[in-house]
Amino acid sequence: MANYLVRCRQCGKIFGKEYKLFKCSCGGVLEVLIDIMNSKWSVGKDAEGIFRYSSLLPDLPQQISLGEGKTPILAKSSDGLTFYFKLEYLNPTGSFKDRGSAIAVSKAVELGVSEVLEDSSGNTGISISAYAARAGIKARIYVPSDIPLGKYLLIKSFGAEVVRAGTRDEASRKVLSDLSDEGYYIGHTWNPYFIEGTKTFAYEVYEVLKSVDYVITPVASGTLLLGVWKGFNELVELGLTSSTPKLVGVQACGYDSLNNYLSNVITTECVEPTSLADAIRLTNAPRLPYIADAIRRSEGFLAVVNDELIIKALKELYGMGLAVEPTSAAAYAAFKLVRKELSGKVLIPLTGSGLKYVGGVESPLYKVFVSGPN
Ligand SMILES: [Zn+2]
Repeated sequence: MANYLVRCRQCGKIFGKEYKLFKCSCGGVLEVLIDIMNSKWSVGKDAEGIFRYSSLLPDLPQQISLGEGKTPILAKSSDGLTFYFKLEYLNPTGSFKDRGSAIAVSKAVELGVSEVLEDSSGNTGISISAYAARAGIKARIYVPSDIPLGKYLLIKSFGAEVVRAGTRDEASRKVLSDLSDEGYYIGHTWNPYFIEGTKTFAYEVYEVLKSVDYVITPVASGTLLLGVWKGFNELVELGLTSSTPKLVGVQACGYDSLNNYLSNVITTECVEPTSLADAIRLTNAPRLPYIADAIRRSEGFLAVVNDELIIKALKELYGMGLAVEPTSAAAYAAFKLVRKELSGKVLIPLTGSGLKYVGGVESPLYKVFVSGPN
């Protein structure tokens, strides 16, 4: 496993591996820096899940895995453009978050904590709960009050305590105000180890496709986009590839927080805030300036989509046999919106599973496919 250090992105202060707080004393976001110069690319054959890339992952005494990663890549073509779906919704708890949870919960085990606290729209809460169950530690998850029923039930089923806390932004505030000395805040919006897990997405893309020209990623807290950026940059540093993909960040109407940071934006008409893309309804993500910076440096841009485009994209995806959640359809909707801007190989991660939405008449899937206009 690789040597690493933890550094504040704001003031540059360096922390030891035993540091338990989620941010720097200056308020800055922390990041893990891997000693790439003394590491090498190697893929372990017998390791579980993403730990097959452990030569480039932080050195952790215990590896908590549920077999995450190695998700399929499906090739498609449209009007002479080849694009690829990476089926991240086939991870153990139905989202790419499992990559991040594997590393973040392994780190929590190393720190010796008995309980982890997390705020989440649902997917990360489910994922952290499952990995905490695997590790034998408690989890307390703060969720928006209107969390889809299927997501709520899954968190409860993994044995976590669930706190309903108003909007998604209010859940972020409540978890921090409830934090005591005993609880370990593992929150993915801050946790530097989480990104070490999501970066394995880039490694897998490299293994199969070598390089891609664009990656189109839904953005709330930015853990996938930042992981993709970090992973590809590490591959460049290792000399395995010469270029990084252009990043297209995708947000939904009413929650386009990156608009304040970027000038390169393609947007649809926004009349109503999205009610469908529940996994990206966050506006106060601590890493927003760094997400914007990654998009800018990659020469990418922001795309903003509305529910009308998301519904169309969702129907097309189900028409292809892909059981995704509406937020994943936001990425495909953005692909269709910005299609003329793209060339080369385009990759669209399908981030979350639609199977979590089997929840009666309140389910967005019910509204789109059963009761909605056809
Ligand atoms: Zn600092």
